[in-house]
Amino acid sequence: MVKKVENVKRNTFEVNVEPDYVWKSGEFMKFKDANFPISMLGWSSINMVFEGIRGYYNSEEDQVYILHLNEHLKRFMESMKMMRMHPLIEIEELKSIIIELIKKNKYKEDVYMQPLAYFGDGPPGFLASGDRLGDMCITAKPIDSLLTSNNMLNVNVSSWRRISDDVMPPRIKTIANYQNSRYVAEEARLNNYDQSLILNTQGKVAESTYTCVFMVKDEKLITPNVTSGILDSITRKSIIQLSKDDLGLEVEEREIDRTEFYVADESLICGTGGEIQFIGEIDGYSIGNNPGKISKEIQSLYHNIVRGIDLRYAHWRTETYQ
Ligand code: PMP
Repeated sequence: MVKKVENVKRNTFEVNVEPDYVWKSGEFMKFKDANFPISMLGWSSINMVFEGIRGYYNSEEDQVYILHLNEHLKRFMESMKMMRMHPLIEIEELKSIIIELIKKNKYKEDVYMQPLAYFGDGPPGFLASGDRLGDMCITAKPIDSLLTSNNMLNVNVSSWRRISDDVMPPRIKTIANYQNSRYVAEEARLNNYDQSLILNTQGKVAESTYTCVFMVKDEKLITPNVTSGILDSITRKSIIQLSKDDLGLEVEEREIDRTEFYVADESLICGTGGEIQFIGEIDGYSIGNNPGKISKEIQSLYHNIVRGIDLRYAHWRTETYQ
């Protein structure tokens, strides 16, 4: 059994924090004033697309660095394109709104921003309604970081399969896709697992519940390729780049069998919200009681870069306070 490390800071995704200000349909407003008609509840979220974006506070610089703002907004635009939804505003304006939202809420801590785009006024979301302008809102809230944690996750291989590109394209970050993740998460919760590996319809490893996955075997980093039923994760791409360019590792993007994970030397999950966390055990097969050397190196390097302690990769970070 992998021992759980006590006193690990909890991820605040489950905590409902009310910001002072949000942005909705073209203007900043108080959280309490940002209301939706009750008739929108339900159907409007079928075609709703979104992004989850992190900002890291650097206390020395007194700066919040927004991570990969351009990349997230590019993917946001691609999700809207797939929904045949025209963006209410374009990337450059979205960027300044997100920066302004952090400032208006006076956040000087780690933050999480969530832009949402949706057909707010149209027919029920199950009807074809495309090629119209979407509405948008953006929220922000403080969040803890797990990037210095050595917690080891106890993981199962879910009995649920990952949605596939010919059914519910996982490449699009739409709210509807997360029903698949919820089934996986509920099964894990009921069986006392922290997370799950999810197989795609070919029976190969796709991702984890809300994150992508890596394994290390013989000093080589291996991750499912982008056609394995994954969200084209920005954190995954960052890890691939750091591992090749800074750690000199060989990286393979390919199909992976579940049993390769059982006998991996190290394994980790990654995502914007999930950051980088280590896998200790999969289906009762021990991977390690402590973080593997390569995984820990990746986590530390990533942490130092996203928080602006390591000044390289400046283009990954957008400064909030000028
Ligand atoms: N897969 C799913 C299903 C996710 O929700 C996320 C989180 N956005 C990821 C992977 C990781 O993607 P990213 O690194 O871009 O946050």
